[in-house]
This record gives sequence, structure tokens and C-alpha cells, in this order.
Amino acid sequence: MAKRIMLDAGHYGKYNRSPHVKEYYESQRMWVLMRLLQMQLEKKGYIVHTTRDDQSKDLAVIDRGKKAKGYDMFISLHSNDFDGSENLTTANKIDYVVAYVPSYTKNDRCKNSQKVGLRFAKYISGVIGSKQEPRTDTKLKSNGDEYYGVLRGWQKVSCPVGFIIEHGFHSNPKTAKWLLDDENLLNLASGEANIIDAYFKGEIEEKEESKVEAPKEIKVGSIVKIRNGAYMYGTTRKLSSWVYPLEWVVLQIKGERVIVDKSADGKHSIETPIDIDDLTLIR
Ligand SMILES: [Zn+2]
Repeated sequence: MAKRIMLDAGHYGKYNRSPHVKEYYESQRMWVLMRLLQMQLEKKGYIVHTTRDDQSKDLAVIDRGKKAKGYDMFISLHSNDFDGSENLTTANKIDYVVAYVPSYTKNDRCKNSQKVGLRFAKYISGVIGSKQEPRTDTKLKSNGDEYYGVLRGWQKVSCPVGFIIEHGFHSNPKTAKWLLDDENLLNLASGEANIIDAYFKGEIEEKEESKVEAPKEIKVGSIVKIRNGAYMYGTTRKLSSWVYPLEWVVLQIKGERVIVDKSADGKHSIETPIDIDDLTLIR
């Protein structure tokens, strides 16, 4: 049976203008990319629907994520910006491509999203010619929920793969100009459709991906263990003894100060700051 894919163009109307290339609006170019990707996938026999049918009409982020229900893959298409991007010198330097994937790495849904997201990021980075390393990342709210509403919506429904892909930064003039070229978008769509097709044919190997992953380091969403007897950060207070044997999810990192909150099995919440040197990365 044909696989079903739900595509999301992110924003509506005229939204997220590039600060340096005035013709560029993220909402408009990602809409074009979405339609091109839809065409490429349909040519390969996939069933493709979109979260919205009218470019000028909005739909709340959670509801867009929930549209993944009954589909085999959900992709939200974006380009990025950052605080302070009006400064051209800085804007010229920041150009990495990132896939935001769900945070809890334990289950297959998240692993598969990570796998496809990383492949997307590397491919896009290569065709755009970004200088910074392509990557995947996760983002959590202070209560441990997914930061991005579309991923929260996606989590609530049964869809095996879901991620947000940022096609570089539209604050970077070179990237914005690249994304304004229709032929570039057509090539991009064709390449992205090939990745999706390779994934469903089982041609994206997990081993191959892990080989090229960034060196293992503790980051938000990592699962860690706390050294037996470690103190609460900046104090000489030990934690309750039952805390040490369990595995914990990293909620926030500020320098050496790492806040761990939920246990990996989801049964406990401690929201406690620990020195990064007292943590061991499990995965
Ligand atoms: Zn966006």
C-alpha cells in the first residue's frame, strides 16, 4: 500500500521576512517548496497531503502536528533566523541546516525521526553550500515538554516519523538568495523526495548514520546517570539515595550547571541542578 506523507509549510501569508534580502518571506518560499516536494513524491507513487490548502490561512501549530494522524511521515518545512540577525556580519556567519527532532530518544518514533532528519540536514547543507556543520537538535520547554507545537501535536497522534527541517537561515543573504531561485527549490524538492523514498525502501542504515554523528556529549534531551553521592550543584547537599541508580533526562544546560528532571522511565521528576562532571551520558 502506498505510504502517506503529511507536509507542513509552517507559516502562512507573508511571514518571517529576511532582514537582508527583502523579497524573501519564509512563509512564501516554504509553501512553494512544499508544493514541489508534493509533486515529486506523488510522481514516485506516494500519497501526499498538506496541513493547509490555502497559503493565506493559518492553522494553530498543535493542530498542524495532529494532521499527521494516519500518515507514515510528517515534515514541517522552514527556514531559520536568530536574535540579532539584523547585524549583517553575524548573519553572514550563521548558516547551519538543522532538523529539530523529538527529544526522547528511547522509542523507535524518535530514532527514525532522528535518522531521516539528519539525512535531510546533510543533504540540504550540501546543496545550499552551508559552511557550518549540518545537525539535528532537540528543544524542550522548562516543564520538559517539546518546545515546538507541531512536534507536540505530532506526539499525540500515531505517525511513526516527524521532524521540523530548517533550510538554513533566511537571515543569511547567500542562503535567502539561493532559496529565492525556483530551479534551486525544484532540485531541493527532488533530492528530499529521494531521501524519503530511500527511507521507506529501508535504504537508510542506522549504522551509517551513527558513524557520522557528532562526538557524544551531554545535551538537552540526553539520558544520563548521576554519580553516586554527587551533590546538588553549588551546594554540599546530597540527593536522596534512590535517585542515583536511575537514569534521568537532561532538561537544561547552562555551562557546568545541568538541570535533570524526569527519570527516563517517566515515573519521577526531580528538577535538580547537577554539575556536568557528575553526570555520565547513557545515550
Ligand atoms: Zn519557521
